[in-house]
Amino acid sequence: MLDAADNFIVLRRDGRTEYVKQATRTSADTYVSALLMENKAVTKLVLTAAGLRAPGGARYDHETEAAGDFARYAGRRIVVKPNATNFGEGVALLGADAGEAEYRAAVTAAFALDRTVLVEEFVEGREFRFLVIGGATRAVLDRPAHPYTRLLLACHPDRAVELAGIPGTVPPATAQPSGCRFHPRCPQAQADCAVAVPPLLALPEGRALACGHPEAALVQ
Ligand code: SF4
Repeated sequence: MLDAADNFIVLRRDGRTEYVKQATRTSADTYVSALLMENKAVTKLVLTAAGLRAPGGARYDHETEAAGDFARYAGRRIVVKPNATNFGEGVALLGADAGEAEYRAAVTAAFALDRTVLVEEFVEGREFRFLVIGGATRAVLDRPAHPYTRLLLACHPDRAVELAGIPGTVPPATAQPSGCRFHPRCPQAQADCAVAVPPLLALPEGRALACGHPEAALVQ
């Protein structure tokens, strides 16, 4: 059992692993990957099972239980976060000098956004993001061609001179835009971007670009 409240289980047999959510969502639909990632507690279980270190801590399904656990974390750098939100919503990083009132406020803010909250040790380190296309991991950080990738990097404080931001909000996974999924937010979108799913174009040096207007994407 990965997450009883989320009806998420893992099945293993004959060397094969299958993640199943709500009985019907399996690897037969690649959407299960997004479902795994949107549940941070499940993501940590998957990482740990793969031998990767995930932050230690605890999961709470009741606010009073979490709020009463301050002594467990006092004097340590911790992160308090909703289990299923994205974009840093409701996430609080507390220093070792944080008091109980600050901790309780962070717990309350996190529970306002989700029924499950994680309190974890803060782990120093760099964050890496991978872009996988067609089952292969592609280089992302050097010379990105896709408008969305470029905008993401323009938002990164280590790389951007001025933080650009990306207009709009990310659509829910269950209501993706037609055509190119980025078209409502893409500054280079043309009328046909809302209709046609962009083909995956091969670029030199093993790169690839899924954009219906590569001429505009590549000149910038
Ligand atoms: S296909 Fe259109 S909307 Fe999508 S990234 Fe290219 S230009 Fe932007």
